[in-house]
Amino acid sequence: MRVMRVDNLIACHECDLLHQKINTSATATARCVRCGAVLFRFRRNSLDRTLALSLAGLILFAIANMFPFLAFKFGTQVHQTVLLTGIKELYLQGWPGLAALVLLTTFLAPLVILLGLVYILLPLKFDYLPPRAMPVFRWVRCLQPWSMLEIFMLGLLISMIKLIKMAELVPGVALMALMALIFVMAATAVVLDPHLVWDKWELSL
Ligand SMILES: [Zn+2]
Repeated sequence: MRVMRVDNLIACHECDLLHQKINTSATATARCVRCGAVLFRFRRNSLDRTLALSLAGLILFAIANMFPFLAFKFGTQVHQTVLLTGIKELYLQGWPGLAALVLLTTFLAPLVILLGLVYILLPLKFDYLPPRAMPVFRWVRCLQPWSMLEIFMLGLLISMIKLIKMAELVPGVALMALMALIFVMAATAVVLDPHLVWDKWELSL
């Protein structure tokens, strides 16, 4: 009987079928034989690129939340807002559930993802896995579908089109930072190779 070593197996993330690891060319893509899901895809300089994008994302996140987001001009009156103003207004107007959902999808999820990635990938760059790296990485992966900055931006653009007839809108630096952050977050998800973390964790056991 042929015995397969556990550390030589890879499970499909879609259907759980176990496959034996084989040596392929470095740039090849490995797919599940049953459902066709991607088991492994080569991503060039994944660690460096994901780390650089995460650090850039944190800077953009800080700008998006610390600087003026939008200013509304009604005649001589100017009303300036920051990114979190909308969440506070939702809460004050009796929509605490909606305010919590917007807080999760536009603030907490992107922040935890970016901080978590820097926490894991910066030490990994020096070939070391920080304490509790796997629970943190699990949170990062769990929260990725909950980061919905692009949907927030879409809703915002629709509101801006409606409001433009009533007031003059002046976009702030935070709005530009948020737009850039949407692209940075999407790029981070694409270039991140989770096997970097999983393989290092397996070696540390
Ligand atoms: Zn599969």
